[in-house]
Amino acid sequence: MATGISTGTAELRDITRMERIGAHSHIHGLGLDERFEPRANSQGMVGQGKARKAAGLVLKMVQEGRMAGRAILMAGPPSTGKTAIAMGMAQSLGSDVPFTMIGASEVFSLSMSKTEALTQALRRSIGVRIKEETEIIEGEVVEIQIDRSLTGATKTGKLTIKTTDMETVYDLGNKMVDALSKEKVLAGDVISIDKASGRITKLGRSVARSKDYDAMGADTKFVQCPEGELQQRKEVTHTVSLHEIDVINSRTQGFLALFAGDTGEIKPELRDQINTKVAEWREEGKATVVPGVLFIDEVHMLDIECFSFLNRALENELAPIVIMASNRGMAKIRGTKYKSPHGLPADLLDRVLIVSTKAYEPEEIEQIIQIRCDEEDVKLSPEALQVLTSMAASTTLRYALHLISCANLIARRRKADVVDKDDLRRCYMYFMDEKRSVQWLKEQQGNLMF
Ligand code: ATP
Repeated sequence: MATGISTGTAELRDITRMERIGAHSHIHGLGLDERFEPRANSQGMVGQGKARKAAGLVLKMVQEGRMAGRAILMAGPPSTGKTAIAMGMAQSLGSDVPFTMIGASEVFSLSMSKTEALTQALRRSIGVRIKEETEIIEGEVVEIQIDRSLTGATKTGKLTIKTTDMETVYDLGNKMVDALSKEKVLAGDVISIDKASGRITKLGRSVARSKDYDAMGADTKFVQCPEGELQQRKEVTHTVSLHEIDVINSRTQGFLALFAGDTGEIKPELRDQINTKVAEWREEGKATVVPGVLFIDEVHMLDIECFSFLNRALENELAPIVIMASNRGMAKIRGTKYKSPHGLPADLLDRVLIVSTKAYEPEEIEQIIQIRCDEEDVKLSPEALQVLTSMAASTTLRYALHLISCANLIARRRKADVVDKDDLRRCYMYFMDEKRSVQWLKEQQGNLMF
């Protein structure tokens, strides 16, 4: 696009979405049916039916563009699936809808101001779907001329391709010579060239290919070929986030910063220019904006300045859907002396839809443990499953899930394929859960440094 602003898509196209593995890798969606009714055990999800249904409705509203200016608060006790549901939403959104996840305390730990950190997180969560027209020539290679006397950096030459209604001659630069030799293209082969990117793909060999062509490799060959395939014009679409466009156009950073994750602060003037450009592309029908989701975990860790910033940001025309999660009840709003539900100020609370999660029933815990065991390829004996389920009920689900891989290690040390209850008991002794840790701290008063 000759716009002065680069979308850097050539570089970005190849960055695959980072897999969010780990604690939630068993979650593949919200496990809802077409009517948004939660299935009992589906896509890695169990229980929490009301919250999952609410999350499904939010997604629908996002997809229909009806969530502007609003935010969601997932509220509930620890380990009740707030993050899991957010992950399920991300999985259901579609691969080109951006989903960003941050822990609120990260905002304070980055080497940039907290409002800059929030701005970057917000802009990472807004996609720009860009349409580009590219001409793809498909045809039979009639002639390749490469001047092989020039080596190294200066390979040149000419490539003639014949299609139904035209014959096209390309001046070959280094890149194309390399691409041709990488694909081992010879005269008589049918290839396609994407004119925008210069990408060459070998589609096959012409039926007219004769033995003579195999001798190809000398400097010049000319071969009479039948007519090739039709020339095509194709429209390709790709999605980049606003933040990626910011970074690529920020002279001090460059797109490599995206790989390093160290993007520094970006000047507001640059962002204004990019917003203007994106608005132009939208008007010209070249791009559409795709609001994604920003998930802020432990949101009560933000302070009053961040909350007012977020409040204003939600009103912005280019705002993503903000989903916050908190496991706090009445809590102090950081940076003030006031207490408020979930540690959120009243004006922000006023614009959120609250989705609550509740403690699990033992059968649900058992099913989640089983799903995690399948995910981690661990076998539990029926007794061990029972013990781990009651451990989860007396500690937290997360603690119990952590014990799975550890108990498996212990079982493997004794050359067993199946984890039994004693393996779990040993893990329980080695690692404390939060309650026991608090108890231990109380007992150690006086011995520890505070
Ligand atoms: P916290 O308030 O401590 O951050 P949370 O409510 O975000 O906790 P999660 O981290 O989502 O809890 O859940 C703890 C673990 O249990 C995770 O591994 C999660 O994937 C799994 N889990 C929670 N709920 C479900 C569920 N309904 N179905 C399947 N797995 C779940």
